[in-house]
Amino acid sequence: MDRIFKRYRGKGFRFTPQRLAILKYLEGNTSHPAADDIYMAIKREYPTVSFATVYNTVEMLKEVGEVQEITIDPERKHYDPNPNPHHHIICTECNKIVDVFVDYSDVLNLPAGLKREFAVAGNHVDFYGVCRDCRNQPE
Ligand code: ZN
Ligand code: MN
Repeated sequence: MDRIFKRYRGKGFRFTPQRLAILKYLEGNTSHPAADDIYMAIKREYPTVSFATVYNTVEMLKEVGEVQEITIDPERKHYDPNPNPHHHIICTECNKIVDVFVDYSDVLNLPAGLKREFAVAGNHVDFYGVCRDCRNQPE
C-alpha cells in the first residue's frame, strides 16, 4: 500500500476509501477488468460507491499512465494496470483476455513510405482464439 501512496501522491490524486479500494483491486490484477467488473468488486466492500466514481477513477488513472485501456473486446473496454507495452489474446467465446509478453517490434515492419512519415512510438498486436476451457465445453 505504501508503494501505491508514493506513486500517486505526486500526481494530484486525492485518496478516498473508495478510490483506495479501486487502486488495491487493480494493483497486480491481470484479469483485464471492464469498468463494471471493477464496480461490482468495489461495491461488495463499499455498497454506496457509484459507477461514475469507479469509471472516473480508472479514466483518471489512464490519463496519468497508470492504467492502459484495452480495446480488443468490441463489446466493452477493459483496463490493464500493467503500463508496460505488451500484447493480448482474447477468447472469442468467453472474452477472457490474456497477456502476450513478446516483443514483435522486429517483425512488425511498416512500409518504407510510412516509416518516413512516422516516428513509430509503439505497436499492439491483438490475437483471437478459443481458450482451452471453452474448447472443452460440452455442447
Ligand atoms: Zn474462453
Ligand atoms: Mn495486459
